[in-house]
Amino acid sequence: MLPDVQPRGSHFIGGAYVDAPGGGEITSLYPATGEVIARVHAATSATVDQAVDAALEAQRAWGRKSGAERGRVLRRAADLLRDRNRALSQLETMDTGKPISETLVADAASGADCLDYFGGLAASIAGEQIDLGGSFAYTRREPLGVVGAIGAWNYPIQIACWKAAPALACGNAVVFKPSELTPLSALHLAEILLEAGLPPGVFNVVQGRGETGRVLVEHPGIAKISLTGSVPTGKAVMAAAGAGIKHVTMELGGKSPLIVFDDADLDSAVGGAMLGNFYSAGQICSNGTRVFVQRRVYAAFLDRLTRRTDAIRLGDPLDQATQMGPLISEQQRVKVLSYIEAGRQEGARLVIGGEAPSLPGFEKGSFVRPTIFADVQDGMRIAREEIFGPVMSVLVFDHEDEVVERANDTEFGLAAGVFTKDIQRAHRTIANLQAGTCWINAYNLTPVEVPFGGVKRSGVGRENSRAAIDHYTRLKSVYVEMGDVDAPF
Ligand code: NDP
Repeated sequence: MLPDVQPRGSHFIGGAYVDAPGGGEITSLYPATGEVIARVHAATSATVDQAVDAALEAQRAWGRKSGAERGRVLRRAADLLRDRNRALSQLETMDTGKPISETLVADAASGADCLDYFGGLAASIAGEQIDLGGSFAYTRREPLGVVGAIGAWNYPIQIACWKAAPALACGNAVVFKPSELTPLSALHLAEILLEAGLPPGVFNVVQGRGETGRVLVEHPGIAKISLTGSVPTGKAVMAAAGAGIKHVTMELGGKSPLIVFDDADLDSAVGGAMLGNFYSAGQICSNGTRVFVQRRVYAAFLDRLTRRTDAIRLGDPLDQATQMGPLISEQQRVKVLSYIEAGRQEGARLVIGGEAPSLPGFEKGSFVRPTIFADVQDGMRIAREEIFGPVMSVLVFDHEDEVVERANDTEFGLAAGVFTKDIQRAHRTIANLQAGTCWINAYNLTPVEVPFGGVKRSGVGRENSRAAIDHYTRLKSVYVEMGDVDAPF
């Protein structure tokens, strides 16, 4: 029997739950069984108006508070998230299907780190003073206003925090739209922020599908859009934001390379490749789904990788021993299986996995076994397109220049990784890779202190770190004349 996770209302606006049935029903399913766990309604444009109006009103006072005051609220919210980590993790597991062994450490916990970090930073957000030889100028770092934030379904509460924490620290208000597939945890974040002392209306949640997102993006009261989603959605959202000359942060998809040189510690490289392909059942934007392995260690790498992959425990996401849960939905499973079929058709060598198991008690769950293709060629669809599932492509290479060129031959540029013990080669290779977020002898670690984001079609702007402050504030320049005005008229 699953716990009751039905929220008290669909939306959270002005500090309270709001329901407005006009927008059609959204059902949240537990991906492990297909059971309906909650029902909410999509926001109509009238509901989006209500949320933006509440945010505009609340932002005026919030933006005038000192950074120290704002920071205290965010840090209190971080503590509350940590206190409730187990319940929030269970909720996230039910909404996403990700195993509880992951959600306990990676979701609300990462959100809490982000709130803590930006809570600590809030008091030091400042402009600068510029000496002009007598006269001077200074800059004010001001909030943008109301931020429209739109999330994907793979890390719902983490994405909400990664957007809300810097936005709120800088004095903005937020209207957040979660993915229709994972509507629940953002409502809990809204409750927690309110309890921590955030004034009503500063953080609001509206539910909905892409259409609600579109209404939010086009709303004249919104100053900035921060989206986490796919490249096609990013293009549509950026174009709509462009029509209103709005600021944007775009965290989009990827097909990132992970390069294993023949001097690498092979066990670490295998671990990195598994982390970068199978965590969250492969539904991570920065995954290193093209694993390039130097010829001399190719066979040994594949051998160790296959043995360790064979031991991954699929099953009940709420059982702490489970290492991989189902995909988010049946639709996603169909998509992933069609890529596996494409890999077979195009002649890649299926080393392990490839099938959708029927697990006892979870026959309706959208599971796919961790899958490895070897001897993958650069032109194959599985090596070019984002699959967003547990499907790793392993490719062989001979030379550094060759692998860098092949790694960069993609429209994406979110992330990249290199495994080698040669420090000069490590830094040289990373410098030559077209990617926003890189790792040397590691993969997919994203501490809040480090900027995160992509280049090329993978995105614009950066989340986390001090860099995020630039994306949630605008500069006002103020010239101060200390002498008389000498007009030529
Ligand atoms: P989508 O692009 O389908 O959706 C992202 C969000 O945008 C959802 O909330 C969606 O609503 C909404 N949306 C869809 N169309 C529009 C529109 N026209 N205007 C405004 N909003 C819209 O992505 P997924 O949810 O399927 O997430 C997977 C994708 O996200 C992958 O490509 C992945 O790489 C990327 N991603 C990127 C990350 C990064 O940081 N770079 C991190 C995590 C994921 P709804 O879903 O309700 O239709």
